[in-house]
Order: sequence, then structure tokens, then C-alpha cells
Amino acid sequence: MPDLNLVVAEIADEMRQRRDRGTVAHYIPELARVDPKHFGIAVVAADGTVATGGDAAMPFSIQSISKVFTLTLALGRYGDRLWRRVGREPSGSPFNSIVQLEREQGIPRNPFINAGAIAVTDLILSGHQPREALGEILSFMRFLADDADISIDETVAASEQRTGFRNAALANYMKSFGVLENPVDLTLGVYFHQCAIAMSCQQLAMAGRFLAQSGRNPSTGLQVIQPERARRINAVMLTCGHYDGSGEFAYRVGLPGKSGVGGGILAVAPGKASIAVWSPGLDAAGNSHLGRVALEALSRRMDWSIFGA
Ligand code: GLU
Repeated sequence: MPDLNLVVAEIADEMRQRRDRGTVAHYIPELARVDPKHFGIAVVAADGTVATGGDAAMPFSIQSISKVFTLTLALGRYGDRLWRRVGREPSGSPFNSIVQLEREQGIPRNPFINAGAIAVTDLILSGHQPREALGEILSFMRFLADDADISIDETVAASEQRTGFRNAALANYMKSFGVLENPVDLTLGVYFHQCAIAMSCQQLAMAGRFLAQSGRNPSTGLQVIQPERARRINAVMLTCGHYDGSGEFAYRVGLPGKSGVGGGILAVAPGKASIAVWSPGLDAAGNSHLGRVALEALSRRMDWSIFGA
């Protein structure tokens, strides 16, 4: 078995030297200001070993990675009834596409494209004030990561709130089909704020442990969700976690993963490790370029692909 610390250090070193870094997301003005030179990686193995490299302790905007955690929360509250509101098939279209939504009567393809995530957030908001819904999401992140020092970057949230016209269109469209229960501006407000949660790779890899360990949070020994549910969330991450780059990610990395336009990726090696990488430059599908390259190297060197050696 290769030495995890050594492999992670090697990868961090290789990524530092790469020149191909992709392009930082520009449609959220605040994210456009992030330096593309950053690279961070953190791996929490099933035995508790933590291996980190590069900017692993620097917080970044988790953006769509938050969708994994809101899906988990909403499944906890609504169980399988959630799947009446949102599908679980890969979309094969960009993360903010409206065309598919029209064809499919306002039911988003999956919970990880923007429309689907907005529908999930709407479920979490129902029966609560936006502040309470956000408090619940944030407490859940802190509990999973075993770290109270996780917060929302208000500047990023405000930046997206000012410019998120496409998401407003998606939300209004779903509202017209009766898919959203709450006022559109309230649901969007919670959505923009959950996307603006700032976490480091270290914190994110800790928060993802329950998905690598059959639903158990190793800090408390408590079962966060049942093993079957963890398995299913991993399945949706594998098939839908990278928008229309999901096939390529599965092909190259071979692990369930969820990306965010902030340049982060949370990946899960079931039974083995929870992994977070961060490099702000994105590829054409809106996924971290070097993040994917680093995960491909890690999965190959550690022999972690779920598809076999
Ligand atoms: N807040 C972003 C948006 O809704 C999230 C997209 C992403 O991270 O892929 O556009």
C-alpha cells in the first residue's frame, strides 16, 4: 500500500508546477477575484489519518459542493418523497440550463444541477424562516466537520444575489410549475448563502467522512444517515456530480465527486477516504481543472477507483 502522506505531498508539488490551470469563474464577480495559483488537497482516511498538501487550510467558496449536504438534510426530512420533486438522472447539459426544465415540466433532472439544488433548498426552507434554514445547514456542516469555525462569506453571497439572474429565471420557471413552495426570493436567498459557505479542504474532507464510512460520523460514532442512503448519495454524485463533465470524471477518476465553481471538489473513496481538493481555475464544463487532474493521480496511485484496479 503506497504511503498516503507521500502521495499527497507529491501531488501537491506536481500541481504547484503545472501551468495549465483553467479559468476562474467570472459570472460571480467576487469569485473572479480569486488567485488561480492556489492549490489545496486534504485526505481523511478511514483509519483517521489526515494527509494535506498546498493550501489545504485556506477557506474557499464551496458553491455547489453545498448541494451534497442540502440533499442529505432534505432526504433526512422528506425521505424518498423528495424524489417526486427532483429526478436523479444525469443532465448532459450545463449546470444552469433552462431548456431541459421546459421539456420536463419544471422537474429538474437531478439535485446537483442548479434548478435541482434550488428545489431541494426550497424543501429545507418550507416551514422555516430563511435564517433558520441557513442556521440548520451551517450547523450540519459544523457537526459533520467537527469544527465550529465554518461560516458564510457574506460578500460572495451578496455578489451572487446581485448577479444571479439565470438562477432567478430557473426558480421563477419552477415556481410557475408549482415545484417551489416558498416565495422565489426567499428560496434564492437561502440558496445563494449556502453556496457562499467558506471552507478549507481540511474542513471539507472532514465533513465528507460520513459518505466514505457508510453514513457514520467518526467524530461522534453516530450514524448521520443509514448506509443505504450514503450509498445512494454517492451514486448520484458519481453520475451527476460534475454536470455534463460527469462521464469524463468517472472515466478518469473513478470516484463519486461533487464540484463547485469556486474550484473545489469533494470526492469519496467508499470505505477508504474522504478527499477535498481546491484549485480555482475551471474547465469548459465548470469543474476544477487541476482538482480533477490531482484526483485522477491520487485515485490511480492509491488504487482507489471504485471500478477496480
Ligand atoms: N452558486 C453557483 C450558481 O448557482 C453554483 C454553481 C456551481 O458551483 O457549480 O451558479
